[in-house]
Amino acid sequence: MIRSILFFCLFACTPLWANKTGITIDPQAPKEWPRSTRVEPGFEVKVIKEDAATNTYVYQTPHFEFHSDAKLMVSLVRDFSLIFESTLLAVKNNPLGLNPRMGEPRYQVKLFKNREDYLADGGMKGSAGIYMGSRKQILVPLESLNVRIQGKSATRGKGGDNDTLVHEITHQVMHDWLRYLPMWCVEGMAEYMRAIPYRNGIFNCSRISPKEYAQNLKSFVPLSKLMRISNQEWSEAVADSTGHDNYLSTGLLCYYFIHLDGKGDGARFKAFLKKLSETGNYDEAEKVLLDNRTLAQVEDELKNAFKKKERMELGGTKSGQPRKP
Ligand SMILES: [Zn+2]
Repeated sequence: MIRSILFFCLFACTPLWANKTGITIDPQAPKEWPRSTRVEPGFEVKVIKEDAATNTYVYQTPHFEFHSDAKLMVSLVRDFSLIFESTLLAVKNNPLGLNPRMGEPRYQVKLFKNREDYLADGGMKGSAGIYMGSRKQILVPLESLNVRIQGKSATRGKGGDNDTLVHEITHQVMHDWLRYLPMWCVEGMAEYMRAIPYRNGIFNCSRISPKEYAQNLKSFVPLSKLMRISNQEWSEAVADSTGHDNYLSTGLLCYYFIHLDGKGDGARFKAFLKKLSETGNYDEAEKVLLDNRTLAQVEDELKNAFKKKERMELGGTKSGQPRKP
């Protein structure tokens, strides 16, 4: 009995000293992507607060809490929140073991009736939504969710800007990683998730295609720049609208590390993330990722891997569209 209590205490306390970063790779992560990840649309939505005097409306889905300045029907919240719940589940099922939080507190989302209020609160001009890391909050104008407010009624048309939302939600559910990862990996993972075919609560993980990424090889930013770009340089490129190629290149790079590098099993990338989760030291982790290769060598290998893939199975030249920021 005492032994089992001791064992339980050790087990229960382990996460406290497991990694100084507080990040643990999910030991239950699948070895490979499942064919698809699916959130059934009938999940519970709770009304937490509806205060017309202060225009404060709060709704909860299983893992997210939405703060709105407009009253919304429960069925409407259930409808537009599907992309949030689905993206979280897809990141959870990513074989990299990113281990997003699945318990309390819920991920926070702030919704705006008017675009001007979105911009005034920190939203970026021209953007459909943004993750504010310092506030751990996604800001989204309701129009990006295709919600129209007319008088006191809110209705939703089909669609919405799913691509942008998947990108921003990926940032949010990877929050614990963000302070340790460089820009190429923060944005690359969001772009990688964005490019997975999605529809009605289902990410078709078996259809993650190199074609989506390979079409961006023409404008690939050299790794000597891409993997060394600072947060400030990244932001400046976004501000002066020259950051397009950066986004596309990081998505392509993450696809390469996850699906094509080495034996095609993402072993080096997984070891890189594990090292980073244990030490919080990017330079040490990058050594594991590069595995005694220079950036120029990795770039050559990347281009050759995509060319080989192209000969085998790729076709089409449609240009990809990155989502920012
Ligand atoms: Zn981003």
